[in-house]
Amino acid sequence: MAEKTESCIYCGADVDASRGEGDHIIPENWGNFRNDIRFHRICTGCHSEIDKSTEQLVRCGPEAVIVEQMGGRSRRSRRGWRSAKKGSHGASAPKPLVPVEDRWVTVETTALPGTVALVDQVVVGDEEGNVQRVRLYPQMSADQLLHRIDKGCRGKVLEIFVTCSEEHWTRYLDLLRTRWPNMKVEDLPSTEGGMRGVLGRLLFEVGERYFRAIVKMAFHYLLTHSRRSLVGNEPIFDDVRKFIASGGEVNRFLAAAPKQQSNANIPSGRSTGVYHRLVADESRLHGDWITVDLDLFAGTGLLVPPVYRVRLARFDRQRVLVPDYVWGHRYLYGRDEQGRGSLGGWVEQLSIARLPSRLWVPRR
Ligand SMILES: [Zn+2]
Repeated sequence: MAEKTESCIYCGADVDASRGEGDHIIPENWGNFRNDIRFHRICTGCHSEIDKSTEQLVRCGPEAVIVEQMGGRSRRSRRGWRSAKKGSHGASAPKPLVPVEDRWVTVETTALPGTVALVDQVVVGDEEGNVQRVRLYPQMSADQLLHRIDKGCRGKVLEIFVTCSEEHWTRYLDLLRTRWPNMKVEDLPSTEGGMRGVLGRLLFEVGERYFRAIVKMAFHYLLTHSRRSLVGNEPIFDDVRKFIASGGEVNRFLAAAPKQQSNANIPSGRSTGVYHRLVADESRLHGDWITVDLDLFAGTGLLVPPVYRVRLARFDRQRVLVPDYVWGHRYLYGRDEQGRGSLGGWVEQLSIARLPSRLWVPRR
């Protein structure tokens, strides 16, 4: 590549594309991959802004749990998401839940692996089906408590469920009565102390930024590999750039592609281990859309995020000069070259066999 100044595709500022780290297609927290190509036409300012979305993706979605299970470490905390318990930009960290009296309540993980402990909390449900769980502390004020309830429940409240240690019960009841003075209290049987086995759940709550990070991944992947010498600042990408930089209508760009559907593009070779599969399609199989399918953390068998089909832009049919084109890469995890406590692997190119889309082929 010639040494010259390029412009940031998001803001137009000058960037020296030969310098700087560039943007990792797969977030750094998910590992370092040999042979990866980074996206360089982005300035430092736009990069750190877009990184806020990546932070939400890395901390709040099912991916956070998978990375934890795979032995990854958060960059900012060596203790991982469970102990960090940090959300990001309005979204919460994944919350473990267990059933108590037919309601799902939040629990804390404990030092003993696989065990959780109940925490004092109120679970408020409203007529619109919203459920808000608020952690209770004896020293909290009524205003603090009600403000947190209101953040998740705007409709008429149907039920308030409190689970707490006996010693603070009257204190919490007093706090709730400042808003609901006439509420009818029903005492449920006390739970005996001790340990028991339960089937838990994980609750994920993500915001728009999570999806902006997914779309960014698809967009930068397309741009680093497209044969159409697309740079990213072309007018067909106006909408997607705007969405990545400042948000908008998620559904316009993102659809969860059913796993079977993505088999319209079948990569060759045997699938082993855990990998991210990215397949870009400029062939107009999906209408006039340029799409990228993201199959993230395939093969983990733990939690399976959907295969995302990202619709990046519509073709300008007049200007298509190159033949239809489909390509893909696999970011494969491996343990051969990595240091302790860090994730990584390598990138391999996939050759994509195009099959008629009506032909159903089982996945592996
Ligand atoms: Zn910029």
